[in-house]
Amino acid sequence: MNPTVIKTIRATARSWTGVLSLALLLVIAAAALAAPVLGLPDPADMAFDLYQPPGAAHWLGTDNFGRDIFARVVWGARVALIVAIGAALLSILIGSALGAVAGYFGGWVDGLLSRVFDIFLLIPTFFLILLIVALFGASLPLTIVAIALTTWPRSARLMRSQVLTLKSRVYVQAALAAGAPHWWVILRHVIPNGIAPIVTDGTILMGMAILTEAGLSFLGLGDQNMVSWGSMIFEGQRHLRLAPWMSIAPGVALLVLVASLNLLGDSVNFAMNPQLRTRGGAPKRRRGVAPPADEPAATAGAPILQVTDLRLEYAAGDRRIAAVDGVSFSLPRGGSLGIVGESGCGKSSLGSALLQTMPNNAELTGGTIRYDGRAIVLDGKPVIEGGRSRIEALRWTRMATIFQSAMNALNPVTTVRRQMVDTLRLHRPGMTRDEATARIGEVFDMIGIPRSRMNAYPHQLSGGMRQRAMIALSLILEPELVIADEPTTALDMLIQDQILGEIADLRERLNLSLILVSHDMGAVAESCETVAVMYAGRIVEIAPTRRIFDRPAHPYSRTLISALPSLTGPLETLDSLPATGSAAAEGGCRFAHACPAATALCRSTPPPAVQLGGNHVAECHYAEEFAAEPVDAAEPTATEEACA
Ligand code: SF4
Repeated sequence: MNPTVIKTIRATARSWTGVLSLALLLVIAAAALAAPVLGLPDPADMAFDLYQPPGAAHWLGTDNFGRDIFARVVWGARVALIVAIGAALLSILIGSALGAVAGYFGGWVDGLLSRVFDIFLLIPTFFLILLIVALFGASLPLTIVAIALTTWPRSARLMRSQVLTLKSRVYVQAALAAGAPHWWVILRHVIPNGIAPIVTDGTILMGMAILTEAGLSFLGLGDQNMVSWGSMIFEGQRHLRLAPWMSIAPGVALLVLVASLNLLGDSVNFAMNPQLRTRGGAPKRRRGVAPPADEPAATAGAPILQVTDLRLEYAAGDRRIAAVDGVSFSLPRGGSLGIVGESGCGKSSLGSALLQTMPNNAELTGGTIRYDGRAIVLDGKPVIEGGRSRIEALRWTRMATIFQSAMNALNPVTTVRRQMVDTLRLHRPGMTRDEATARIGEVFDMIGIPRSRMNAYPHQLSGGMRQRAMIALSLILEPELVIADEPTTALDMLIQDQILGEIADLRERLNLSLILVSHDMGAVAESCETVAVMYAGRIVEIAPTRRIFDRPAHPYSRTLISALPSLTGPLETLDSLPATGSAAAEGGCRFAHACPAATALCRSTPPPAVQLGGNHVAECHYAEEFAAEPVDAAEPTATEEACA
């Protein structure tokens, strides 16, 4: 079997809805398949007493002709399943093929086919089926064809929208460039990649097909030679007072089968969508704690943010991954802290933990966060006060964020002004539209965006302008602390420099506290007074910026600094880390697998946090020795120049 199919079945079987729906469908399918050998009475045999209620002799009773209802329900399942599978397959086949052609070729082909889809969607489904059955007669194959002919535009539209995005993918272009004909590209590369939502929709189509067949049989337009749940319900409703079991049994069977198919559709969708699986659906409500009774009042000199032993884990299937593993630091009011490290070191997870905007599969498992002396997280749980978590009262009004990619962070179908007005009025309900627009104008002036650009959509702005708009949005409510998560990553060097300069300028003018998350030591050196270097979920070194560049005490920080290119001097090969296995060392230093200075002690014993004086702390057994050795740099690096 195809590995993707096996993986999907396994993932489906992991959720309780998947297990329940699969179990119910298996029971129904097994009963339907085994009907001839189960020793049941002939479903058409009128050999029993009429209207017998359910009992030991006839589990579901008998009907008005003395037929065994249990036998008829089991035989009826065959018809229901044949109609469901046949109609859904035919509908998906026609719809996927036409949808793929429309989306792939575009232009007049798309225009023509899309109109055909629309016309079919406009025709009342049941009316069209009635017409087909009335014209060509009632039989099971014709019922299947009639249902498929009325449902295929659903699959066609889904496939068309999938193909519209898939056809510009590089692997499709690569296949065409390699000489593959269009039909091959559609069959081999486009349809298989776009089929997932259609398969999920197929389970809903199956439910619809069963109900439609039941409806036709109920109206007496089904195949009269076959036992169908619809015809059973039709007969039953005429004897509802005398023998209600005649309708209840096929009705319940119909309900169970359709509900199982819908549940299965949801489970398959969940299993086939890795984002849904790992990040969860709607925002999760996390259990909170009350503020401590003996909480001291904030003092004038209290740090604006104090983080102690913070831990955050991601759930990935059965695994738990510690992205933030015992992080502590403190940020004075008006201060700035740069958090640097490679991708996956946990720096962005730390940023989202501070604002408590983590994805659903992330959980704070320990630690405390205090904002202005008041706890907002205690032992990993959000602090609730007056029925509302404290972070909700702080978010955006006092703690704001600048997101990584402004194009993704700003709503593409809403103007920048509208997004800012919404934010302002959400937090300041009494504010009029004119007052909000005036405030946006002020912030635009401050950031250096012409007021005339306020009504632009995000895509109408250049990359630098968009990022400035994002900064303006973060400052609109005059926060005290801004967490900037890689604010210049997608920008060229020139714009990056301008944006960082503007952030530094704003900090000074507004007395903002700043946490800058970045992989770029140069950016951090330019904007922050303190640098924290993160590796594998921990801050392995923290120190004032000048100090960490002069005397890095952790081999990882030294490697990061040595890897910065020099703007002057001869060409040289920059240092890099070996691509070795996991960073999670059992018991020892987590950097030991890549550290050029690792010893047996490093591999067996976790390094202590060594205090080096002047707020300089490094987690390394040999921190004092490294701090005594200035980093080897004959020529000033770009960062050192920024730092100076
Ligand atoms: S403790 Fe050892 S392995 Fe870890 S950073 Fe220091 S020297 Fe390298």
